[in-house]
Amino acid sequence: MSAAAAPKMLARSGAFDLDAVRAQFPILGTTAHGRPLVYLDSAASAQKPRAVIEALTHFYEHDYANIHRGVYELSQRASALHDAARRKVQHFLGAADWREIVFVRNATEAVNLVAQSFLAPRLGPGDEILVTEMEHHANIVPWQLVAARCGAKVVAAPITDAGELDLAALAERLGPRTRMLGVVWVSNVLGTVNPVEEVVALARRRGVPVLVDAAQAVQHFPVDVRALGADFLVFSAHKIYGPSGVGVLWGRLEHLAAMPPWQGGGDMIERVAFEGTTFAEPPFRFEAGTPDIAGIHALGVALDWLQALGLEAVAAHEASILAQAEAALAEIPGLRVLGAPRKRTSLLSFTLDGVHAQDLGTLLDLEGIAVRTGHHCAMPLHARLGIPASARASFAAYTSPAEIEALARALQRIATRWR
Ligand code: PMP
Repeated sequence: MSAAAAPKMLARSGAFDLDAVRAQFPILGTTAHGRPLVYLDSAASAQKPRAVIEALTHFYEHDYANIHRGVYELSQRASALHDAARRKVQHFLGAADWREIVFVRNATEAVNLVAQSFLAPRLGPGDEILVTEMEHHANIVPWQLVAARCGAKVVAAPITDAGELDLAALAERLGPRTRMLGVVWVSNVLGTVNPVEEVVALARRRGVPVLVDAAQAVQHFPVDVRALGADFLVFSAHKIYGPSGVGVLWGRLEHLAAMPPWQGGGDMIERVAFEGTTFAEPPFRFEAGTPDIAGIHALGVALDWLQALGLEAVAAHEASILAQAEAALAEIPGLRVLGAPRKRTSLLSFTLDGVHAQDLGTLLDLEGIAVRTGHHCAMPLHARLGIPASARASFAAYTSPAEIEALARALQRIATRWR
């Protein structure tokens, strides 16, 4: 989006012009089963504004070459755009140094990188990795893989019945054998916004490094890694209006500088010889092979787009959509929303008495309404809640009150007809 378009978007309601925002998302004008698409699965992946779609095309048409290799002008231009994208991510996160930004494929890969390169060398038999009961599998399984290799184990801090972290219990679980804490900022099932600043402070007082999973956070409110004080933070471009195939790892420079490579190949070396190889400085040490060059550039454009729109304005809009959804779903007989956290953002998961989540998803789909159903990659959390599956409606900058009304009407019909 051009910088000039931003003020127009903000003009109409004084803060946020929803129609102007929606008009920038071509997919919102399409249909599903002959009905206007009602896309309520943004927590799984956000749709893309025209600025991002066009940035990809423009890049391939005008600026594309491999990066950091060519002396020729085109490669240098592609490299400059790539470097600029890294600085955009740095500033977006408030990171102290561009070298703290590592490009990977997604949030999941970022956690795997930290587990294998940072944690595995520090892990011994009997050690523990602490996570919470509300983690996505991406913040559980990578730790389990290294734990199994090292004779360590992954343990979970409990949540309350309201779907919040139990900070006292978490503090208790931070024991002398805890070598790492992985904590999600926003639960992708409960929508709970965790007090991560407090959790980070708690862990760091005991010398336990912390990885924050910000996959459901960065698109909803401003994040400042320096204020947060964590050791690592991860997110995926595709959930923040960028393309799929790109993820970000932020790590403290002193950690990254001390971590060994986790994958070998081109671009991550200083000098290669059969007698031995030396490695590049971070972040390049962790970026073996050709990255998603166009995708990384488009992530930078997505961040520009979101910042021009204003994260505060987006947060205010999403808060009003969430409040509307909470009120509307409370009217549906037999519908139970999972959790009741004091601080929640942008999504609601629920069950409907007598209707399996999968069937609920299919019935909503027939009305053009896309929601996620299943365990949402959080099986331990569903086990804790005592249910096999749930349905989830999730919201973004482009979600409209009319879409929430459509969801509520459809649920009302299903609740009366199918139960
Ligand atoms: N953490 C959370 C909280 C998520 O919601 C997701 C995506 N559902 C991930 C991690 C993993 O993201 P990705 O699949 O893009 O790696």
